[in-house]
Amino acid sequence: QSKSMGRGTFCIFTPEMDERLRERIALEADLRRAIAEEQFELAYQPIYHLASQQLCGFEALVRWQHPERGLVGPGDFIPLAEETRLIVEIGAWVLRRACRDAVQLPGSPRIAVNLSPVQLAYGDTVATVEEVLRETGLDPARLELEITETALFDEDNRTLAALRSLKALGVRIVLDDFGTGYSSLSHLRLAPLDKVKIDRSFVRDITARRDSASIVSAIAALAGELGMATTAEGIETLEQLEAVGRAGCTEAQGYLLGKPQPILRAASSTFFSKRLKTARARQPSS
Ligand code: C2E
Ligand code: MG
Ligand code: MG
Ligand code: MG
Repeated sequence: QSKSMGRGTFCIFTPEMDERLRERIALEADLRRAIAEEQFELAYQPIYHLASQQLCGFEALVRWQHPERGLVGPGDFIPLAEETRLIVEIGAWVLRRACRDAVQLPGSPRIAVNLSPVQLAYGDTVATVEEVLRETGLDPARLELEITETALFDEDNRTLAALRSLKALGVRIVLDDFGTGYSSLSHLRLAPLDKVKIDRSFVRDITARRDSASIVSAIAALAGELGMATTAEGIETLEQLEAVGRAGCTEAQGYLLGKPQPILRAASSTFFSKRLKTARARQPSS
């Protein structure tokens, strides 16, 4: 960190800063090579419709198979990819891969792809999405683009314009991680949203805390009034699954229902048809 040493001193490089800078430069170089060599892969996590208990789609989650470091999760490279804007190229790869995979899947499930605010603000995301849809022949109604609330803070309105153009292509726009950070109810009418994903921090203690349950119910009710679906994220227990259903969420996603996994294994997700029955059988009747 640069040390403030009073007036007239602007920046002091400390040895550890030098070290971190070196690390960052190395990682950035690796990231550029990863794009060129397509070292990324996608894991797919199932999303279930609660009323029908049917699988309704998958979320595509990027991983980086680093030649020396092994598998790197998105939390460890997306921030640098955003700072360097390399996310624009990585995001285009993710989108193309996900749409190509989606057309191979039986049962026409939806496919959800995360979009970084940087892609919306700087990338030519609308053109990329249009091109990938044309190229793969995927029905636009099957593509869900997940954005976060940070994307909606963009001041020059490029992002909102991009979202409206994306919406006009027939894809669905989803607000991810709702309820974290600088959440605002007004965001729900700012963008043309089809669905809201309720952050897993509310789901985590929904069975222990009444206020969490109330917040989830209120978001689900408001979203419903506005004609939007709601996905409860991070479902890890049967109790949470039942609680989010009672709270009025329309869809659920989480380790209980299925972990992110390679496309072929994800394609055979059968939580409600198999695992729920066994889970219920194992529980004493209540
Ligand atoms: P997200 O979009 O909110 O994705 C859900 C994250 O929660 C995933 O982490 C998933 O593995 C994890 N998760 C799902 N169910 C559970 C659960 O029951 N319990 C717990 N504890 N966690 C659960 P992952 O794959 O590490 O991704 C983290 C974040 O990285 C994503 O959050 C998303 O914001 C970002 N990300 C992932 N792939 C992409 C991508 O292709 N592009 C962009 N821009 N961001 C991505
Ligand atoms: Mg997401
Ligand atoms: Mg999320
Ligand atoms: Mg998240």
